[in-house]
Amino acid sequence: MRSSLTARLLGLSLLVMLCTVTATTWLTVQSTTREVRQEYSQGFAGDGLIVDAVLEYAAENTTWTGVTPLLTNLSQYVDRQIVLTGTDGTFLASSDGTQPELPARELAPVDPLHAAGEGGGIDPRAVGPYRLTPEEQTLAAARINTATECMAGFGIDAAAVREGSGRFALTIRGAPTAQVADCYRTSGADAVTDKERAALRRLNDLTNACLGHADQPVVTVLPGFTWVLTAAAPAGLQPQRCIDDSRREQLRPYVAPPVQIYVIEQGTAPAVDLSRAGTLRIAGVSGLVLAAAFAVTLLVGLRLSRPLRALTRAVENGETRLPVRGGDEIGRLTAAFNDLSARRETVERQRRSMVSDIAHELGSPLTNIRAWLQAARDGVAEADRELLDLLADEAALLHHVIDDLRDLAAADAGRLRLHPEPVYVNELLGQVVVAHQGRADSITITLDADGDPEAVLDPTRVRQAVGNLVSNAVRYSPPGGTVTVRSRVDGDDLVIEVADAGSGIAEDDLPHVFERFWRADLSRSRHTGGSGLGLAIVRNLIEAHGGTVTATSRAGHGSTFTIRLPASLA
Ligand code: ADP
Repeated sequence: MRSSLTARLLGLSLLVMLCTVTATTWLTVQSTTREVRQEYSQGFAGDGLIVDAVLEYAAENTTWTGVTPLLTNLSQYVDRQIVLTGTDGTFLASSDGTQPELPARELAPVDPLHAAGEGGGIDPRAVGPYRLTPEEQTLAAARINTATECMAGFGIDAAAVREGSGRFALTIRGAPTAQVADCYRTSGADAVTDKERAALRRLNDLTNACLGHADQPVVTVLPGFTWVLTAAAPAGLQPQRCIDDSRREQLRPYVAPPVQIYVIEQGTAPAVDLSRAGTLRIAGVSGLVLAAAFAVTLLVGLRLSRPLRALTRAVENGETRLPVRGGDEIGRLTAAFNDLSARRETVERQRRSMVSDIAHELGSPLTNIRAWLQAARDGVAEADRELLDLLADEAALLHHVIDDLRDLAAADAGRLRLHPEPVYVNELLGQVVVAHQGRADSITITLDADGDPEAVLDPTRVRQAVGNLVSNAVRYSPPGGTVTVRSRVDGDDLVIEVADAGSGIAEDDLPHVFERFWRADLSRSRHTGGSGLGLAIVRNLIEAHGGTVTATSRAGHGSTFTIRLPASLA
C-alpha cells in the first residue's frame, strides 16, 4: 500500500492541503482578531454619536429619569446595548430597561460641565438660567437680522450663529469697526433680558467670591461670559478659572449629574466569536475542505492509476498487445510497451530461425562428408581424388559458413571495429576485381570508375563487402556474362555499384535478399557454395560505416546492388 501510486499521491496532496489550510486558518484568525481588537480599541463610529446624544440630554435635563427612550433609539441605531450608571457605579438606565452585567471598561464618562473643548469644558448646550423663552428667541432673531442687514449696508459681511441659549453670536469677516458696534446697538441685539441680567449678576457675585473679593468686586462678567476688571482689581489678576468654576456652580442645578456610559455588543461579540465558536467553525470548515479534497484526490488517483494497473496485469498475464487509449503519458507508455513487445517477438523469432538455420547449414555439409566417408570405408565408393575434392569442397563450405557467422556475431555484439583511413577507391575496387577475375573463368569483370576519389573508410571491410557482391554477381551470371563494378561521387556520398546481367531476383524476393540464410533458390545457391549470409554481412559492414546498401533487379535481366557511403572524401 505504501508504494502504491494512489497512496503516495494521496499522502502528498493531503500534506500540502493540511499545510495550506492550517496556514490560511492561522493567518485569517490572527489578522481578523487583530483587526477586531483594533476596531474595538479605536471605538466604533457609533461611539461618538452615543456620547454626544447623552451629553446633550445631560445639558438640557436635570435628572436621568426620562433618558431610556433616547437610549433605546440610539441602541437600535448602533446595534448595541447602552447602559448608564452613576459615577459610583449605580445603575441608572439602559436601552432595553434591563440591568445587564457590565463590561470591564466603560465607553466614556459624561458630564456636560466637564466636557472636552472650549469654554472651560462646559458644553455649550448647558445654558441653565440663560435660556431665552421662545418669544425672546424670536425677538433676538429679528434683532440680529436687523443688525446684520445694517452691517451689510456698510459692506460688512457678518453672519449670525444661534447658540444653546437661543441667542445669536456674530461672526464678522475682518476686524470689528465702529459701524459694527453701532449696528449691534441700534438694532437692540445687545439688549439683555431681566432673567439674563439676574443670572449674570449672580455669576458676578460667585466669581468675585471665588477670587476672594466678595465685598469689593474686582471683575465684571459681561454677556457672552467675557469680562472686564474693575478699578479695584489688583494688577495681573487672572479671573478666567474662577469664572469657569462659578459658571459650573451656577449651572449645576440645571444639568443632569455626571454618569458613565457602557456599551455592550449585541448577540455574539466578534472577539469571543473568534476565540471559541469562530475557531471551531473555521476548524470544521477546514475539516470539510480536507475531506472533500481527500475524496477528490482518491478518485483522481484511482482513475490515474487504473491504466497503469491494467498494464501491469496484462504484462503479468503475458499479454503482448494492449489497447492504447488516449495520447497522454499512459497512452504513450502503452504504445511503447506494444512496440517493445513487437520488437522482442521479432528478435525471438529471428533467434529461433537462426538457430535452426545454423543447425541446418552446418548439418548438410557434415551429412555429406559422413555419407561419403562411410561409403569409402565400406568400399562402396572409391577414395580417389574426385572424392577427396568433394570432401574438401564440403569442408570449405563449412568453413565459409562459420567465418560468415563469426563476422555477423561480431557485428551483432558491436565488436565489429572499423579502422578508417584515406583510401583511393578505384585502387581498392581494382584489387577486388582482380581477385575475383582469377576465379571466374568465362565471366568478365570490369571496373568503370568516374574520377579517382580518395575516401576515408576501412579498406578491409569495404573490400569484403564489395567482394561479397561481386562473388554473388559472378555466381548468378551465365557463362560469358559481364559483371560491372562502378564508382562515383554523388554530393558528399561515395557510391559503388555492382551490376550483372544474370538471373536477376524476382520482385517478391527483393525485400528478403538481405535477411540471414535467405536464398531464392536453395538448391542452386547451395550448389554454388553460398552460405545465405553474404548479403546480411554486406549490410552489416556498410551500416557500420554509416552507409546503406540497396538492390534493384529484374528477373532474367540481372541485378544491381548499390552501396552508398557517407565517406568523408579526402
Ligand atoms: P548466398 O551465399 O546464398 O549467395 P547471399 O546472402 O549472398 O547468400 O544472397 C542471398 C540470396 O540472394 C541468394 O541466395 C540469391 O538467391 C540472391 N542473390 C544474391 N545476389 C544475387 C545476384 N547478383 N543475382 C541474383 N540473385 C542474387
